[in-house]
Amino acid sequence: MAIETSPQASSAPLVRMHGVHKWYGPHHVLVDIDLELARGERIVVCGPSGSGKSTLIRCINRLEAHQQGVIEVDGVEVNDRRRNLQHVRHRVGMVFQQFNLFPHLSVLENLTLGQIWALRRAAPEARARAHAALQRVHVAALADKYPARLSGGQQQRVAIARALCLDPQVLLLDEPTSALDPEMVKEVLDVITELAAQSGVAMLCVTHEMGFARRVADRVVFMDHGRIVETNTPEQFFQAPSSPRAREFLEQIL
Ligand code: ADP
Ligand code: MG
Repeated sequence: MAIETSPQASSAPLVRMHGVHKWYGPHHVLVDIDLELARGERIVVCGPSGSGKSTLIRCINRLEAHQQGVIEVDGVEVNDRRRNLQHVRHRVGMVFQQFNLFPHLSVLENLTLGQIWALRRAAPEARARAHAALQRVHVAALADKYPARLSGGQQQRVAIARALCLDPQVLLLDEPTSALDPEMVKEVLDVITELAAQSGVAMLCVTHEMGFARRVADRVVFMDHGRIVETNTPEQFFQAPSSPRAREFLEQIL
């Protein structure tokens, strides 16, 4: 446990969003969002393109700022001060749709950079942890390769390993398989499923992969036009969603 963690922290939600609003200019992209993620909980977020899914998760680790309401990570408001940004980034790992690996760095260097700069780990320890993380996502042999030499599926597994190296309490995954060729989707989803089964890391994952959501998610959150329209179990959501808008959406993607 990190030293700043308050005594009541273990029972409090890891992520708490309350009454959150965000605008891009006149465009209201998050509307009165209430969402809590418990420690170790897995939530899948889905909804039509433009509904605010990426914005929601980018606000949690402060890649975007919200204008109204509260977003707390492990009890600390993310919008406050610089110190809080560090608090957040030490707890939250991010996996992007487009992998976002540094092209001029080897796989190993991609994994050690954040550990050395953000966590101030010594290089030998950072390398040891990087190798361990690569093993967890079954790409141990790729440590010395450059991202451009890897398949999309391998790059995304490296990106997941990079996030894991920072020992996050929660992983935010924004459509981690939607930029992949179909034959690579499974290897990435399998790695995330394995992580969910073998570690206590909480996850907030934007995806429309229904089989994955059924296997991994404790809850499914459906968004439309910046609002959370429905929160449900995966079974209920995919079989019999309660909101007409979710029903319509599922008919389109099935
Ligand atoms: P989703 O991930 O569900 O497709 P986004 O969160 O990316 O949706 O976008 C929500 C809305 O905000 C969309 O209408 C999008 O066009 C708009 N938007 C996203 N990013 C920006 C930005 N940087 N500037 C202005 N508008 C944005
Ligand atoms: Mg998006």
